[in-house]
Amino acid sequence: MAKPKVAFYWCASCGGCEEAVVDLAEDILKVVEAVDIVFWPCALDFKKTDVEAMEDGSIAVTFINGAINSDEQEEMVHLIRKKSGLIVAFGACSHLGGIPGLANLTDKESILRASYLTGPTNVNQEKTIPLAKSPSPDGELHLPELKANALALDQVIDVDYYIPGCSVPKKLILDAVTAILTGNLPPKGSVLAPTRTNCDTCERNKTKPEKLTISKFYRPYEIELDEEKCFLAQGVICMGPVTRGGCDERCIKGNMPCRGCFGPVDNVYDQGAKFISALASLFDAKTDEEVQAIVDTIQDPAGTFYRFSVAKSYLGHKVS
Ligand code: SF4
Ligand code: SF4
Repeated sequence: MAKPKVAFYWCASCGGCEEAVVDLAEDILKVVEAVDIVFWPCALDFKKTDVEAMEDGSIAVTFINGAINSDEQEEMVHLIRKKSGLIVAFGACSHLGGIPGLANLTDKESILRASYLTGPTNVNQEKTIPLAKSPSPDGELHLPELKANALALDQVIDVDYYIPGCSVPKKLILDAVTAILTGNLPPKGSVLAPTRTNCDTCERNKTKPEKLTISKFYRPYEIELDEEKCFLAQGVICMGPVTRGGCDERCIKGNMPCRGCFGPVDNVYDQGAKFISALASLFDAKTDEEVQAIVDTIQDPAGTFYRFSVAKSYLGHKVS
């Protein structure tokens, strides 16, 4: 019997989600035995023309990681959508826009200027900035063009399932592949991870005082972190109360607060807004001045509350 065809594609990402697939180690052999990998540009030499030549709907499932922030990525995901039965948004950038989505808080020209001209490590005496079209003696050269904003995958194409995380843990990948191969899938649109929050399963939850109040926030390096105590009770921002579980609280167990990469739980659209509202209720303040003094101790609020989710939030992109 023919094996189901599977594809992997990456868009704007750091490569960590591709690495997560490789990190399956010997378990990848079980996946390879069960499926036929027909497209995986990061690992194998496939071309766009190979995909174009496939029959529509002939790939059983394609896992796409990364945000969409170039015209080339947009074109490719539309092509892959046409050729695939199921599309799985794989990892935080595809699910929520991820770290590339933070660039939505500025504009395209500033991003190019910072990346190619003013960045402290740049050496670019000719002040070259990549262009979508450049003349050359051999004819016009084309490069993918940066879009005005980074988008989550479902803001560009229809997505069937989501696997969250930066990067995706091995267990979630294997569970998802098993569910797909056995047809044992939840309703379309589901996130293939638990519905509870990290706080629900965190060992440190027991140490939260009955009435938790915060009068000042600290960044993790500013205090000596107690390895057993809830981060919030130490005045350190931890997104655990509003972040989907399923990562085995891997950062918290490494004595770092949760940064929210698994995104919100079901029925919450804006993870950052949900957290800001919860956090504000913990402020030990009676006057506007006291509130402001506490707020002033939060460094980089957008990067803290929306580190992975700007694209899928009410902010979405820069408001001018
Ligand atoms: S806020 Fe963070 S450290 Fe505290 S219980 Fe929740 S997940 Fe654990
Ligand atoms: S603890 Fe939070 S930031 Fe760390 S992997 Fe889990 S969900 Fe992501």
